[in-house]
Amino acid sequence: MPELPEVETIVRELNEAHVVGKKILKAEVFWNRTVATPEVSKFLQLIENQKILKITRQGKYIVFHLFEGFLLVHLRMTGKFLLSMPSNHERVRIYLEDGQVLHYADQRKFGRFSLVKTLDAIDHIGVDPFSKDFTFESFKALLNAHSRQIKPFLLDQKHICGLGNIYVDEALWEAKIDPQRFSNTLSHEQMHDLFHAIPKVLEKGIENLGTSLGTHRSNYFNVSGKRGGNQYKLNVFRRDKEPCPRCGHIIIKLKVAQRGTHVCPNCQY
Ligand SMILES: [Zn+2]
Repeated sequence: MPELPEVETIVRELNEAHVVGKKILKAEVFWNRTVATPEVSKFLQLIENQKILKITRQGKYIVFHLFEGFLLVHLRMTGKFLLSMPSNHERVRIYLEDGQVLHYADQRKFGRFSLVKTLDAIDHIGVDPFSKDFTFESFKALLNAHSRQIKPFLLDQKHICGLGNIYVDEALWEAKIDPQRFSNTLSHEQMHDLFHAIPKVLEKGIENLGTSLGTHRSNYFNVSGKRGGNQYKLNVFRRDKEPCPRCGHIIIKLKVAQRGTHVCPNCQY
């Protein structure tokens, strides 16, 4: 599932591909449920002739700023944008002026498009770790306000947005924190380490153009159809039975909040 670094990589690539500033001539929808709102006929009508002013990211959402309103895209499990024709699973096609075509493919079909007038629809999501609102004081207050295991706490997009299973495991390893610890029981020092670990692991993911797990085409790959490289740089995620890069102890895998979780028992317990 694309997390913040993968979505950020896609947004940067869309910007580099000069999609911004172009007018949308028309769109085609091949799987109606991909369009969450408005209904498909209205969506097709409203998106026509809209100019793309800007493309940004908020949490795991891709935000197309249009002349009128916004197109919000959440890729969920397997959604991806491609500038070349995908072999299959294409759900939406956007024709731009000058002949460029943006294809949206999504094997599992969980990704959603919403054409909205305001950004209220994503108001409920928590603070983005790269926004100026993500301060140590606000992070500490959030942790102290909740008595919840730190792993599911970080996965919950209501608190902090953008993190998923991969980067939560990496951040907790980085900060040497047991994923089962309760958020409000962390020491000041642990909160401080975690506050710095979160943007650190995300930045590394962005630098490496995202994490592509496995080799299957349903896994994340970027707009030009290439795999990311961060899977080779992970310290703990899916490294069970391998030595911890920091201390050499064997990494274990367990379930926390029903999610496969990777920890170094020596560094994190
Ligand atoms: Zn270790």
